[in-house]
Amino acid sequence: MKPSAPDFQWEYAPAPEARDHAKIKPQYDLFINGKWQKPASKTYFDTISPSTEQKLSEVAEANEKDVNAAIAAAKKAYNTYWKKLTGADRAKYIFRIARVMQERARELAVIESLDGGKPIRESRDFDVPTAANHFFYYAGWADKLNYAFPNRRLQPLGVAAQIIPWNFPLLMAAWKIAPALATGNTVVLKPAESTPLTALKLAEIIEEADLPPGVVNIITGFGKTGAAMVNHPDVQKIAFTGSTDVGKHIQKAVAGTTKKITLELGGKAANIVFDDAPINQAVEGIVNGIFFNQGHVCCAGSRLFVQEGVAAEVIQKLKNRMNTLIVGDPLDKNTDIGAINSKEQLDRIKAYLKIGVEEGLELFQSTCTLPKKGFFCKPTLFIGAAQSSRVVQEEIFGPVLTIQTFRTIEEVIEKANNIPYGLSAGVWTDKGSKIFNLTTKMRAGVVWANTYNKFDPTSPFGGYKESGFGREGGLHGLYPYLKF
Ligand code: NAP
Ligand code: MG
Repeated sequence: MKPSAPDFQWEYAPAPEARDHAKIKPQYDLFINGKWQKPASKTYFDTISPSTEQKLSEVAEANEKDVNAAIAAAKKAYNTYWKKLTGADRAKYIFRIARVMQERARELAVIESLDGGKPIRESRDFDVPTAANHFFYYAGWADKLNYAFPNRRLQPLGVAAQIIPWNFPLLMAAWKIAPALATGNTVVLKPAESTPLTALKLAEIIEEADLPPGVVNIITGFGKTGAAMVNHPDVQKIAFTGSTDVGKHIQKAVAGTTKKITLELGGKAANIVFDDAPINQAVEGIVNGIFFNQGHVCCAGSRLFVQEGVAAEVIQKLKNRMNTLIVGDPLDKNTDIGAINSKEQLDRIKAYLKIGVEEGLELFQSTCTLPKKGFFCKPTLFIGAAQSSRVVQEEIFGPVLTIQTFRTIEEVIEKANNIPYGLSAGVWTDKGSKIFNLTTKMRAGVVWANTYNKFDPTSPFGGYKESGFGREGGLHGLYPYLKF
């Protein structure tokens, strides 16, 4: 075994995951009213693998006519069937979806990594099992809503329009669909244009689970398709996860209507390390918080705050650890950092790297080599960042970490909160009292203590300020889909 010198990168033999069991059709239509239907637009667009830039398939572009058809199917399914079912009967369908997802977990993980670029370790060990868990969890609530909300007259809302981003395509679909079905609503869901394939696989699973036609409709398209869903008069509920800009757009579009809305938007989380923290554990948490999954995580710990006394040690250990990270083929089981989701996103990240350098910050990038083809970015630090730096204030959504130092707890709370976002935060310290002090003052929906990026279907997730409103997950995740 070679000694672990600071700049040493482990060399592993390639361990690619087999992809022959992942069946991707050359072309996908729209899943409307339980059938695969040709788009009225007659047009299809390509979805590529960002790690090879090769085309994987082409998917239908839904236009307004298709959106109308999908919403009409959802409305009919709601009125004629779904809202009349007992919770226990709805649960049977949802449990079935969860079980088929588990049976097809391998295939889903491979397709998620191919289409979106995330490492197979992540899609296999996190995205797919957590997505199935969401269905299991909400299936459990379907017949117990009266215990969740005792002495209330509960009613579903009707048709839910659900729009999701590209960073956790299957998991976001599960976050959206599972609570909607459990509470008796029907669904039209649109995945992001660059990662439609696992949502379409989920449509196949829904077919296999024998859901009544129209209860879940999955349509693909661009922003225009999403906008048509939002503006449709027969939609009673909009659940959106994506950027703050589009979220603001949607909020304007529904102003003056009775549509219920939840927005899960951007983030710029503070990850705070005190001088009494377990440093090695914290370094691992920092790496997990920003570099795994290419920083394509809305709750990524993208702003590191280190207490002055341990700053030099933390930064050195972080650099050493970054040099061991393997960037490359998402389907290789050794890969830590996969491909950036699209060329546009890589260009955006590169623009921020330039901005940080122009702002005079010290840049550190790991010594790894990047694959020649595909969209990749080295894990990057900006050391000595100022609170006013654009790379500190704006969401980059890539493997880029800014580092600021602090002296007192009051100072770090002030700095951590002084940002338009408030989705999540992390704190590393030996003292429970510090954790309590900080968690009560942080304006963030989730605060992780001595860990990072931990998710569970039972636990609510959502933002403060420009990170959005409404909660998904847990009992709280049922509220937005019910009338009381
Ligand atoms: P995005 O551009 O806002 O897109 C999100 C979804 O909205 C996509 O399906 C997109 O379709 C659709 N869309 C675009 N314009 C629309 C419009 N005018 N009306 C209705 N729908 C529209 O976000 P993204 O770039 O895919 O995702 C990255 C962002 O999501 C980041 O800001 C990240 O922080 C945020 N995010 C937040 C959470 C959370 O839980 N808070 C979780 C994950 C991601 P097309 O893709 O076809 O354009
Ligand atoms: Mg793709």
